[in-house]
Amino acid sequence: MNKLTLYGTPDSPDIYPLRDFLQRSVVAYDWVDLNEAQQLPAGLAAGAQVPAIAFPGGQLVLNPTVEEVAQHLGWITKPSYQEYDVSIYGAGPAGLSAAVYAASEGLRTVLVEREAVGGQAGTSSLIENYMGFPEGIGGAELAERARQQALKFGVDILLLREGIKGSFYNHRIHVDLAGGAKLVARANICATGVEYAKLNLPNEGRFFNKGVYYGAGASEALFCSNKDVFIVGGGNSAGQAASYFAGFARRVYMVIRKGSLAATLSDYLVKRVTTIPNIEILYHSTVQELAGDQLLEGIKLLNSVDGTETWYPTSKLFICIGGKPNTDWAAETAIIRDPNGYLVTGNDLAGRPQFPECWPLPRPPYHLETSVPGSFAAGDVRLNSVKRVASAVGEGAMAVTLVHKYLAEVDKATS
Ligand SMILES: Cc1cc2nc3c(=O)[nH]c(=O)nc-3n(C[C@H](O)[C@H](O)[C@H](O)COP(=O)(O)OP(=O)(O)OC[C@H]3O[C@@H](n4cnc5c(N)ncnc54)[C@H](O)[C@@H]3O)c2cc1C
Repeated sequence: MNKLTLYGTPDSPDIYPLRDFLQRSVVAYDWVDLNEAQQLPAGLAAGAQVPAIAFPGGQLVLNPTVEEVAQHLGWITKPSYQEYDVSIYGAGPAGLSAAVYAASEGLRTVLVEREAVGGQAGTSSLIENYMGFPEGIGGAELAERARQQALKFGVDILLLREGIKGSFYNHRIHVDLAGGAKLVARANICATGVEYAKLNLPNEGRFFNKGVYYGAGASEALFCSNKDVFIVGGGNSAGQAASYFAGFARRVYMVIRKGSLAATLSDYLVKRVTTIPNIEILYHSTVQELAGDQLLEGIKLLNSVDGTETWYPTSKLFICIGGKPNTDWAAETAIIRDPNGYLVTGNDLAGRPQFPECWPLPRPPYHLETSVPGSFAAGDVRLNSVKRVASAVGEGAMAVTLVHKYLAEVDKATS
């Protein structure tokens, strides 16, 4: 496909979701800063405040939504079947892997993703510990390969659609999608992962996409040149982002609560972030305040050891802390979640007080099965999962094996 051209101003809050979506979806584009552009296509005024995209066919769309972009790319599709064998929610590594295995094994498979294919992994600049890629692989590239593989095997991918409510009857899961459509499947795999937590500062919402970002999408690195960038968090996602952004920014500060990185960061990343000269680690530190007019201009950090408070000027704060599982949709179902919202599966269900009244079968739940028979969970969304690409991929594949077992059991019982 020829490249599309994205027009905008670097700090506009409207531009970030578009850049992020294109980058995560591995769509090549040329970037034109409207403040500096010499020549503009007809229909786009110099100094325009809204972004625009010129598509390869010549069509210019002013202020497009992410959905409109996906529509123009031909990625918005309708379900092909009234009923699927398996519906999979979330197209991160776990969901993509489940989709590839399910469809390659002949199951009618639908994969529903509310944002961009790739999930958290799709935002990673370089995954270096996934087997088979000694030089590492960009998360978006890995996801795009998986997307193409899934399509090759006939998976229906419903992009920018979100499962918001599920009900289980007649050996089927019936899911309401945001926007009104319904999906029916004989089994389902929930692979909805986790999302970054907020700092919960009073004016945080005001600076969302105006200097405060959740995650550290690789798309923003280009726009950090000559800037001091702050990344909150001491986990692998923060460490990876710090080492990647250090190639663009003047200085990268990692803001971490603890006094050491060893417990939260892989050893190879500890070595890297502590040796790159323009990365500084601010230990025992938390963000206390955000300041700015229209855009973020500064942050106040508290050092918990000596009690000092320091203001730092910055227009880029990336928050890469903690995870909140995406399981709100399960609130009104018999699916048991732990107090933090993670889906409880397999043996972990045994001691839960609600379990006996939820579980109707004489057999115990399979390893990745939730407290509703035929409803499985894979990847980060699952209680006690290992938060890694490889384990998410492995669980996606394993969930499909268990779906086969479950479907055979239902077929036997109903034949
Ligand atoms: C920046 C970064 C770097 C990382 N680097 C590494 C690394 O180098 N090595 C490594 O092993 N791990 C790494 N990780 C961790 C790894 O990416 C995760 O463990 C992995 O992505 C988990 O996969 P998942 O499929 O379970 O969930 P996710 O990747 O979280 O995907 C879940 C998907 O579900 C979608 N979704 C949520 N709710 C709904 C809904 N209701 N309906 C439809 N879709 C929904 C989300 O939009 C998302 O796309 C990194 C994580 C981050 C953030």
